[in-house]
Amino acid sequence: MIVRFLRFLLLVGLGYFLFKWLWKGSGVWPFASKKKQRDEAAATPNSPPQIIAEMKKDPVCGTYIPENQAIICELHGAAHYFCSEECKLKFQETDAA
Ligand SMILES: [Zn+2]
Repeated sequence: MIVRFLRFLLLVGLGYFLFKWLWKGSGVWPFASKKKQRDEAAATPNSPPQIIAEMKKDPVCGTYIPENQAIICELHGAAHYFCSEECKLKFQETDAA
């Protein structure tokens, strides 16, 4: 009776220390940490450090301009993006003709 109880205690204690040693050894649960690292590594190359402005095409000269630097001209309910005032004027002239 007593021997069985002691053996049970020994097993529980051993299991507890093994669990604690594994936990401390890796910082976090080993399986979870490996999965997390893999997820982070997979996510990093796809996400750019900064949000790049959308590029708009100048319909006159064909140049691509970042939306926040373009000269915007609204015509017939649609927005047109130009690299310079020159292109904007040319576009308006062509439209008027
Ligand atoms: Zn242009």
